Amino acid sequence: MSATTDLQARFDAALMPNYGTPPVAVARGEGCRVYDADGKSYLDLIAGIAVSALGHGHPALVSAVADQTAAVAHTSNLFLHEREVELAERLVALLGGTRDEDVRVFFANSGTEANEAALKLAKRAADAGRTRIVATENGFHGRTLGALSVTGKAAIRDPFGPYGTDVVFVPHGDADALRKAVDETCAAVFVEPVQGEAGVVPAPEGYLAEVRRVCDATGAAFVLDEIQSGIGRTGHWFGHQAHGVTPDVLTLAKGLGGGLPIGACVGFGRYATAFSKGDHGSTFGGNPVACAAALAVLDTIENEDLLASAAELGTLLEHAIASIDHPLLDGVRGAGLWRGLRLSTPASAAVQSAAAAHGFLVNALTPDVVRIAPPLTISREEILEFTAALPAILEEAR
Ligand SMILES: *Cc1c(COP(=O)(O)O)cnc(C)c1O
Repeated sequence: MSATTDLQARFDAALMPNYGTPPVAVARGEGCRVYDADGKSYLDLIAGIAVSALGHGHPALVSAVADQTAAVAHTSNLFLHEREVELAERLVALLGGTRDEDVRVFFANSGTEANEAALKLAKRAADAGRTRIVATENGFHGRTLGALSVTGKAAIRDPFGPYGTDVVFVPHGDADALRKAVDETCAAVFVEPVQGEAGVVPAPEGYLAEVRRVCDATGAAFVLDEIQSGIGRTGHWFGHQAHGVTPDVLTLAKGLGGGLPIGACVGFGRYATAFSKGDHGSTFGGNPVACAAALAVLDTIENEDLLASAAELGTLLEHAIASIDHPLLDGVRGAGLWRGLRLSTPASAAVQSAAAAHGFLVNALTPDVVRIAPPLTISREEILEFTAALPAILEEAR
């Protein structure tokens, strides 16, 4: 028995079966490489689902977390601490440049919690009678009951209903359907700039601007879920910045903490101050260690010019993949260092395991889409190492 199969057997016996058995047991990481329990090395092209933005063991993250843990690891929301104030100020500064209005932050511990806060915020700000939420088919907003109620994947939503919220789903990117669904009874519209879990599916040009117009015309809150697209993933701090629009409520998580759990719900304008004292809370939310980690992520993105790098290397990755002529490969989409490889047959699981055998971690996202979302610190050489191996990986998976 290898160390991996031994751990898998223990995993199967002690953990609930909701994930199935993961194929790789990660023991440690260094930069963009991770090593499994048997010492095999992999180039990490998924970064823990677009989370480990600085790769593994980045000195800025390690010292921020170690220093903060030594100073004070937890305060609860009964007390304030400087790191949460600093992080909120940084996010406000990154987001506030385009509109002359109040911008404020609530900290949670995960993406789904950030969306729970957004749902409560939209309900709090809405007049009586505005009870409906509009969301998108195949959209993903999280697994807790509120976020799940606006998640447009029937297979994961339906088994846990009925939900207390009236939600209408419209096709992602369909402006006409959106205009028909959103009216004065609508409290909020939930969208992602690029649908992540659906297969890295960008919205058509002009769609976010149309969401903005429809929300302005009807008074519904424009809630933009940037949990996967935010914090540099697309080559911009936030995906919406490429579209010249700002939402009313923005949710963040994944890449923000660089691997430490943190989520954020940002309110603009009247949504900045819609919660009153006592309306919402979290014991761990805004935890000093998670905030210190997030500050290290933001500093490092700035210091190492990782936005420009995500844009440039993302284009390199896209072009290198697009130039591969293989019957299993049907194209590549996405933005920055966030790409979906479209396959001509539902072979993504076979591609994922062939890639792992070749020493690359990628993600079988849907049956015919493989997700690539490496650390933002990945090098040109590492990207080319993967694209050079990709034809052989595809051939093995065919
Ligand atoms: C991952 C994700 C979530 C949920 O985040 P968790 O931290 O897993 O709760 C919500 N929305 C989007 C767009 C995501 O990608």
